[in-house]
Amino acid sequence: RSSAEKFEFQAEVSRLMDIIINSLYSNKDIFLRELISNASDALDKIRFLALTDKEVLGEGDTAKLEIQIKLDKEKKILSIRDRGIGMTKEDLIKNLGTIAKSGTSAFVEKMQTSGDLNLIGQFGVGFYSVYLVADYVEVISKHNDDKQHVWESKADGSFAISEDTWNEPLGRGTEIRLHLRDEAKEYLEEDKLKDLVKKYSEFINFPIYLWATKEIDVEVPADEDESSESSEEEESSPESTEEEETEESEEKKPKTKTVKETTTEWELLNDVKAIWLRSPKEVTEEEYSKFYHSLAKDFGDDKPMSWSHFIAEGDVEFKALLFVPPKAPHDLYESYYNSNKSNLKLYVRRVFISDEFDELLPKYLSFLKGLVDSDTLPLNVSREMLQQHSSLKTIKKKLIRKALDMIRKLAEEDPDEYSNKDKTDEEKSAMEEKKGQYAKFWNEFGKSIKLGIIEDATNRNRLAKLLRFETTKSEGKLASLDEYISRMKPGQKDIFYITGSSKEQLEKSPFLERLTKKNYEVIFFTDPVDEYLMQYLMDYEDKKFQNVSKEGLKLGKDSKLKDLKESFKELTDWWKKALDSENVDSVKISNRLHDTPCVVVTSKYGWSANMEKIMQSQTL
Ligand code: ADP
Ligand code: MG
Repeated sequence: RSSAEKFEFQAEVSRLMDIIINSLYSNKDIFLRELISNASDALDKIRFLALTDKEVLGEGDTAKLEIQIKLDKEKKILSIRDRGIGMTKEDLIKNLGTIAKSGTSAFVEKMQTSGDLNLIGQFGVGFYSVYLVADYVEVISKHNDDKQHVWESKADGSFAISEDTWNEPLGRGTEIRLHLRDEAKEYLEEDKLKDLVKKYSEFINFPIYLWATKEIDVEVPADEDESSESSEEEESSPESTEEEETEESEEKKPKTKTVKETTTEWELLNDVKAIWLRSPKEVTEEEYSKFYHSLAKDFGDDKPMSWSHFIAEGDVEFKALLFVPPKAPHDLYESYYNSNKSNLKLYVRRVFISDEFDELLPKYLSFLKGLVDSDTLPLNVSREMLQQHSSLKTIKKKLIRKALDMIRKLAEEDPDEYSNKDKTDEEKSAMEEKKGQYAKFWNEFGKSIKLGIIEDATNRNRLAKLLRFETTKSEGKLASLDEYISRMKPGQKDIFYITGSSKEQLEKSPFLERLTKKNYEVIFFTDPVDEYLMQYLMDYEDKKFQNVSKEGLKLGKDSKLKDLKESFKELTDWWKKALDSENVDSVKISNRLHDTPCVVVTSKYGWSANMEKIMQSQTL
């Protein structure tokens, strides 16, 4: 069109589109769930605005919050339409031409090597998956604040935008028209689309309709003048036809026959009852798993590690569903310190409010996905006012409690963690499936538990129970503090640990010599965060933590020690002088070594050598 304004795609978008077009082996089906997910997001947005201003919804059909799918077999067009918030001209340029989210480059790189598009939705570029199946795409959109516009692109590095003067007015919302490639003709089949919606979009909270052909039985008079009467019958509803007939049949013999006719009508493809409103007892594992995939836009093959579905009653009523994802996202800790993003969606009485509500979960639990639907929070206030609402504190407290319970259960069900000798055979075989699940959790999210111990003083003890580590006695497996305590030697008061950059390095440490000889167990802390962790974790079950490379290590009474101190006094005094008081605090005789003649020990409140190393590497 001559009036169209032309734009170049951002270089990154062009690259992404090239990869999508050329990805022969990828699962092409995913485009539909991405479009439906966008439609659903857009509907959520308008519904949210309508809470404070009913006018925005408009009148008649425009106010219907639904998604419609239509096929044009002749022209090979598949279109998906929603009555969501729509896009202004500016939105079209910004949203469908540039990539806002960071990390997309990493995704593009990964795509190039793996060719797996499944995670596209998580990266905020799901829209472009349309080019898996279409070579030409039109996006017609009407936002309340602008005229209707058409965005179009043949994926040739540019797109065009025109004011829409030729299509039917949408009222409000967006229609995406996919001009399907020859290889993608299967998406013109109704059954294929029905299957896909069932498979991927089952839990969308708005009705999804397909303009579907349907064969219906029509009763027509068997006699000659059937044509004139059949048109009348078509218009009356099926029930009334039946009634008439039974009445009639008593009077005279039925002279009708049944013929097949095809009509087209909107067929509802999904059941819009929200899964979290159902009783937890009624929801199957598979349903939870599928719901997780759609909620998290994580369409990998793995099931979530665990979930917790509960209904809180009392002063603050809400329903919640929390998931531990099968894997940590690539950037979980990368963005930890500068982002506050929680992955919980907040609903108030089933209306989606926000997924950027940091007040619901502490930062260290931001790896969880899920949702909260509150009956107590007010609906008609701004997001800012909601954020101040007093019941949020109660919700948060309960969510943390439930989240930690869920994680604790992951450990309790794991036969690697607890012995199952008192269990029945049936219980044992059920547990066998869960073998190793806590180690898996720990590998993905253990750092979050440590960050929790640092940040959350209230739940520190609960979190410390979830802590895992290797020790001088754990033989490559993970141990817990409870296990450590159960193996403590009689008379041992402290929990011994050592910090360093690797287990291999620590095993050679002179600090362990005597402890190992005397059969004491020592915990290895080898993650940089462990140094910070141990500044917050002072004790556990009335036992103090003792860094074995620090001052204060007590290994029971040693009667010879006092005599030795006396007889070596001259040496230690000389040594202290020789090293200068700026370099060492004191030189002491100790019983902590076995083979090594001497060792440098850190003072009780000073940084350990490992901490010095960490700090140095951070400032460099
Ligand atoms: P994401 O949905 O993760 O943001 P997408 O690539 O799927 O990424 O979509 C990009 C953006 O385009 C969306 O954030 C949204 O602003 C806009 N958009 C896409 N589809 C629609 C739609 N049907 N209605 C309104 N806006 C849309
Ligand atoms: Mg999307």
